[in-house]
Formats: sequence, C-alpha cells, structure tokens
Amino acid sequence: MTSSRRAIMLRTALPVVVVLLLPSQRAVEVIYPGYTWQALGGGIYVHMWDDPLAGPIDGTSTVIVNDEDVFVVDTHINPAAARAVIAKIRAITDNPVTHVINTHWHDDHTNGNHAYRQAFPEARFIAHRATRSSLDEGWASMEDQRRRAYEAVRGRDLATAADAIEANDPDRAMTLRLFAAYRDALEPELPTLELVYPDLLFDDRMVFERGERTIVVQWMGRGNTDGDAVVWLPDDRRLIAGDLLVAPIPYAFDSPMVDWVGTLARVADLGAEIIVPGHGAVQRDMRYLAQVASLLDATIATVRDAHAAGVGYDHLAAAVDLTAQERRFTGGDAARAYAWRSFYLEPGLKSAWTSLGYPVPQTQ
Ligand SMILES: [Zn+2]
Repeated sequence: MTSSRRAIMLRTALPVVVVLLLPSQRAVEVIYPGYTWQALGGGIYVHMWDDPLAGPIDGTSTVIVNDEDVFVVDTHINPAAARAVIAKIRAITDNPVTHVINTHWHDDHTNGNHAYRQAFPEARFIAHRATRSSLDEGWASMEDQRRRAYEAVRGRDLATAADAIEANDPDRAMTLRLFAAYRDALEPELPTLELVYPDLLFDDRMVFERGERTIVVQWMGRGNTDGDAVVWLPDDRRLIAGDLLVAPIPYAFDSPMVDWVGTLARVADLGAEIIVPGHGAVQRDMRYLAQVASLLDATIATVRDAHAAGVGYDHLAAAVDLTAQERRFTGGDAARAYAWRSFYLEPGLKSAWTSLGYPVPQTQ
C-alpha cells in the first residue's frame, strides 16, 4: 500500500474510530440541556444539574447498572430530564429499571418517578417510611402551589422584572430569576405530571445482592429531613448521600439540625471513597462532608448560646455570627453568598432553633 493510500485510509477510518470509541469512553456528556451525565466507573452514572446555584435547581440522579437490572436513585424535579436519563439507560443496557429509590420527599428528587413508571411499569419505588408520610402530606399541595404560581405569571417577562429591581434588591432579583427558571422548565410538565408514590417502604435498611455488588439502602438517622435514605455500595465504597450532603451550599429547610450532626458523623464512619451529594459536585474525599458537619455544629452552638443569653427568636439573625463559616462556603462569590443566605442561613437558624426545642412565635 502506498503511503498516500494509507494516509487516505487513515483519514477516513479515524472519524469512524472516534465515533465508535468516544460514546462509551467519554466520562462527561450532555444528554439534557443544563445537566451533565458522568460515568463514575463500575456501571455507575450520575446525571447532575450543572450549576447547583442556578434555576431550576435540581437533584442529582444516580444510575446503577447491575448484571441483570438497573437501580436509579432520585428522579429529578423535571420529568423531561428523567426521560433523557431513561433514554440513556436504554442506550447503555437492555436491563430494565427494577428499583427506583427516593432519598427523601422533596420534589427535586421525586417528580421524575412518573417517567419511570411509564417506561418500566414493573419498577418498585423505595423510600423510608417517614419519606412516604411526608409525600402523603406535602407533595400534592406542593405541585398545586407550583401550578397556581406559574399560572399567575404565565407569559410575563420575569427576566426584565428582575433586571428592573437588580440595583435596589439583588436578592429579590435573584429569587425572581430562580422562580422564572422553574416556571419555564416545569410549567409544560405539570399538567401531565402524575405523582408516583414509593410503594416499598423500610424503617432501617434494605439490602440487595446483585452478582458481585451489594446495594444497601439505609436510614442513618434524621438529617436534612426525617426520612433521608443513603445508598451505600460497600464493594465500591461509594455513597449516594441524598441531601444529607449538598454542595457547594447546604440546604436547611425545616431540617432536624441537632439530629443531622449525629447522622452525618455515622455517614462519615462508612468510609466512602466517592460521595455523590444530593446536589453538586461528586466528592472524592471527606473534606466537604467534614466542612458541613462543622457548619452544622457551629450553627447549633451559636443558636444555643444566643438563646442562653436571652435572645428571642425575632432577634436571632442579628445575634448569631457565622461569618467565618460563611467565608469558608462562599469565598466571597456573589451567587454562593445568595445561596448561603437563602438556602442555609435563614432557614437554618429557624431549623436549629426549632430543633433545639425552642418555641417559634406564632407569627413566623
Ligand atoms: Zn434536593
């Protein structure tokens, strides 16, 4: 073969090789706008909302491909993103999704259940018993509230409204932008959304043996919610933590904070090498978990001290000082600082106060 002929063959063969090799070898790709699909190795994949501080904020969905079936942990707030994950699963394996685990009841981890029920009618939906109770109490009304709120601002240019108040009230402008992003993503989905509730409930743990792999679905104590489940893969030393761990800023809405500290310590004792948080970057060491544990500790201590000094709930925010922690988490970044105030500090002080057993005035 002449060298020029070989060169031509190489040139024509190369794209074919690239196309054949890349899809299976690529570690990160986009299968739905705004999210990244990442292979963690060993048949484990995560589908992650790329910017955890931008709307619509969504939970990470983890896919575990076993020898004969597939487990999915959390299903996204946006069913369209769940459908993209399902299409990707089908491109990877012929195995059916048999088990869907909801780590807790918030709809950014459960709304996509419906897509799995449609695609895999035999699949079972697993959750802690307290998560099922919370879903029974709050899920339908949460989605009704969303429908009504989006209906009320349909067609309105919220970005322009946010621009108009940006200079005077940047936090409110950011809240408006987040809301607009949720509306745009969810309004088309809500009319056909069916709430598919977990039907396989546990109190302590469930263990599944799948060939070489053991999958432990476990409740390690109250934390971000009453019924947080973690999924622990002891052979791979991988942990799917749900919102017990959220990066880069934790969420603390109505959280039993005092219990959370102990729960996180038990989670740390598992000795995971890879931790998939409920939101945000996959962690490959314990540093971030330790940072969150220290934050929870500091929050509870400062609220307890304030209460002991006679500070009432109404003056709590002015009395506590978490600026050293704030610096650690935000690094001075404006988007992180907004998330710190809105997702951690404000709800977290109330959660810590309540969790310590102090009464909140009726008006709050
Ligand atoms: Zn979440």
